Amino acid sequence: MIKLPFTLNKEPGIVIFTAPSGAGKTTIVRHLLSTFKELGFSVSATNRPARPHEVDGKDYYFYRTREFLREVKSGSFLEWEEVYDDQFYGTLGSEVDRIWSNNKHILFDIEVNGASNLKEKYGERALAVFIKPPSKEILFQRLKKRKTETEASLKKRIARAGKELTFEDKFDYVLLNDDLATAFREAEAIVEAFLGITKTRETSE
Ligand code: ADP
Ligand code: 5GP
Repeated sequence: MIKLPFTLNKEPGIVIFTAPSGAGKTTIVRHLLSTFKELGFSVSATNRPARPHEVDGKDYYFYRTREFLREVKSGSFLEWEEVYDDQFYGTLGSEVDRIWSNNKHILFDIEVNGASNLKEKYGERALAVFIKPPSKEILFQRLKKRKTETEASLKKRIARAGKELTFEDKFDYVLLNDDLATAFREAEAIVEAFLGITKTRETSE
């Protein structure tokens, strides 16, 4: 049985997954989206280039820098961060409206500062889960193995990860992502316990 500090009593709710880049947020969030039909993913905006296989409007809204800053000015973001030099990421208020108006719970995949800001904004309507890699070394290996980053981008992510790993105590729950199948089961149990929903589909992963 999963022990959470509180559970949702207002519908619909939010589960925020946060961690340093490479810890497994995207992998776990995708698994949950394919397992529970009541969940919707908050698609963030960014000015970073799309990776191969990333789809505009599904993985991110890919903006030009000028466009991103215009949206900042016009108040479109609930939170935004310059996560790496000149690389901006932000949560659009319109995403929260879109998903809640479809009567779904929202999953977020964001870095630690944005996660803290959203947690502060939504309080007990949001559960903030820190995904913890088994070690810094394994985190770096995963990032390298993913082969999505240039050498420069990899360096930026590694440089930021040390600080981000010290944030684990600031969140409601720490989920260790060592064995992936175990992490999937724990993530499912967290979502079920917090949101009071049950699995729609059995997945083979
Ligand atoms: P994030 O979204 O936090 O940056 P990803 O989900 O992209 O992280 O995961 C980083 C890389 O590590 C991916 O290549 C993913 O397949 C791999 N990965 C994730 N979890 C595990 C795990 N438990 N064991 C081994 N590899 C993993
Ligand atoms: P990536 O470039 O690897 O997709 O993301 C880099 C980091 O930015 C990750 O930690 C990711 O979770 C975070 N991120 C993605 N979207 C947002 C967002 O809307 N706001 C914030 N603050 N961080 C985000």
